[in-house]
Amino acid sequence: MRIGFLGLGVIGRPIAMHLARTHQLRVWNRTAARATSFAKETGAEAVTTPRDAAIEAEVVFTCLPNSPEVEEVLGGGLEGGLGPESTLVDLTSGIPETSRRIAGRLSNRGIGWLDAPVSGGTAGAEAGTLTIMVGGEAPVFSRVLPTLELFGKRIVHVGPAGAGQALKAVHNMLIAVNVFALGEGLTTLAKAGVAPRTALEVINNANGRSFVSERLVPERVLSGAWPRTFRLALLDKDVAIARDLARTEGIDAPMMDRVSELLHQARTELGEEADHVEAIRLHERRAGVELRG
Ligand code: NDP
Repeated sequence: MRIGFLGLGVIGRPIAMHLARTHQLRVWNRTAARATSFAKETGAEAVTTPRDAAIEAEVVFTCLPNSPEVEEVLGGGLEGGLGPESTLVDLTSGIPETSRRIAGRLSNRGIGWLDAPVSGGTAGAEAGTLTIMVGGEAPVFSRVLPTLELFGKRIVHVGPAGAGQALKAVHNMLIAVNVFALGEGLTTLAKAGVAPRTALEVINNANGRSFVSERLVPERVLSGAWPRTFRLALLDKDVAIARDLARTEGIDAPMMDRVSELLHQARTELGEEADHVEAIRLHERRAGVELRG
């Protein structure tokens, strides 16, 4: 099968690697050098326009920061290149409302749409074990499922167009809440004389545990490794999407409002390239303690 892939960023690249192993892949990236080096490594074809990535492709993937960038690339030639029987699968953690609009427009031309944001990070993408939450029409989902299985392990059709991205935004809001709550909680305990490692040993064997307490804080904060795999700026975007969705649905969501504000502040202080877990550095700085050790 011929597949197009646009967006070879931190998460897009390892996903595209799986596709390149079994399919004829055409890749496009805004910074062309990334597409060229990917093509050299995998045997895929690097193309210079979004339109060329879509021509004759049965399935086209986009993996961009947010929905406005997806719209930009669609308007920049991708939409015109999509054939009538093709499907656009948007892996972007984007905006449900924008996706519903795009899906409607494409459907008028007989083109399928799935929003299929992923969870599992770069490790999950490399291992091909991502969780994929999919919005769109059931027959389109069934048709594309074998291709999603090349990089996903738990793949769930969660509703119509936009539903995958709605779920992803709320999912990431939960990660954000946990990062900030652990930053506050562990610095409080450190000052109160409880060592972070001891605190986590207890929490992780009791009911306050979470993915952030079990994996992210021990592997990234206590170890002092602070790797950069998922930008805090992207988490800020995700929580803003969840907060806007709550507003649209008439839900009072003070927790989402507050964590969105905190992420915004952290983004201003730490910059666009900081990893999401680095928010905990700010708690350390303010408290005058280090959780490492
Ligand atoms: P990156 O910032 O690493 O990559 C973004 C990609 O989008 C790059 O290929 C970049 O091109 C391209 N891009 C940015 N702006 C534009 C634009 N205006 N027009 C065209 N292309 C553009 O992000 P990630 O790969 O980390 O994330 C991609 C999506 O996946 C996001 O929605 C994110 O929330 C989500 N996600 C990320 C995870 C992670 O662990 N990193 C995990 C799960 C989901 P260029 O090379 O030119 O900069």
